[in-house]
Amino acid sequence: MNRTVAVLALLLLGMAAFIVVQARRVPPRPLPAVAALVDSSTVSPESTSAVAPTLVPGEADLVSVRSSASPAPRRDLAEIQRRLADGESGTYIREILLQRGDNNARWPDRQIEPLRIWIQPHSNLPDFHASYPVRAREAFERWTRAGVPVAFTFVVDSARSDIPVVWVDKFDMPISGRTRWTRDQHWWIVGSSIEVALHHQSGTPLEPDAIYVITLHEIGHVLGLDHTQDERSIMAARVRVRDLSVADEHTVQLVYSIPPGSVVKP
Ligand SMILES: [Zn+2]
Repeated sequence: MNRTVAVLALLLLGMAAFIVVQARRVPPRPLPAVAALVDSSTVSPESTSAVAPTLVPGEADLVSVRSSASPAPRRDLAEIQRRLADGESGTYIREILLQRGDNNARWPDRQIEPLRIWIQPHSNLPDFHASYPVRAREAFERWTRAGVPVAFTFVVDSARSDIPVVWVDKFDMPISGRTRWTRDQHWWIVGSSIEVALHHQSGTPLEPDAIYVITLHEIGHVLGLDHTQDERSIMAARVRVRDLSVADEHTVQLVYSIPPGSVVKP
């Protein structure tokens, strides 16, 4: 019996350690700034509570801007606003636009030429498990079923990838994943990378399921999504779910139904 109590106590401690942070976003600076922006993070009051549901830490994102030769998108503001009005119900598109100064960020259609993903296949870091690259790949495959015009292909040469996914031991802040992305002058996303931690900041190892969930969340950023207050969605800053929500899917579909750039009159 004492052993049972001890195990329960350990489980509660484990949940308490599964602590999460609200990453507060800083809107990207307007062109021509090329500076990377780092989010500041604060520990939420709930993070010390043992009764919190299973959580996965959020992350800070770094956004940079560089000019590209990509053609300007074809834009019809009235059509953009009509699609938003028709499609926004049941999505968190307005939360994203609010954080982006009313700009939509997305990749060009990449169905014919899929985005090349390189997932670091091995790591000598403690607690790395051979299943982790598989879980990360499954996370990409999950997003391909969300109905976006972006396909993924997995490459073995990191130098030829569009999006590298690498493992890090832990972050020096209470986060467990980080996505960097770069957009161009039209708000096309032109590059991205993901780091996934193997440990909480405290040193506690993350579980295989957490690796999957963190990667799911980070890929949402890669695709142009931002955080939502809706805790049923994978894009909550503090993730409480283990799969995409209907709102995640509808939001990313809406993001890809309109061109990048401003959704309002300049
Ligand atoms: Zn995030």
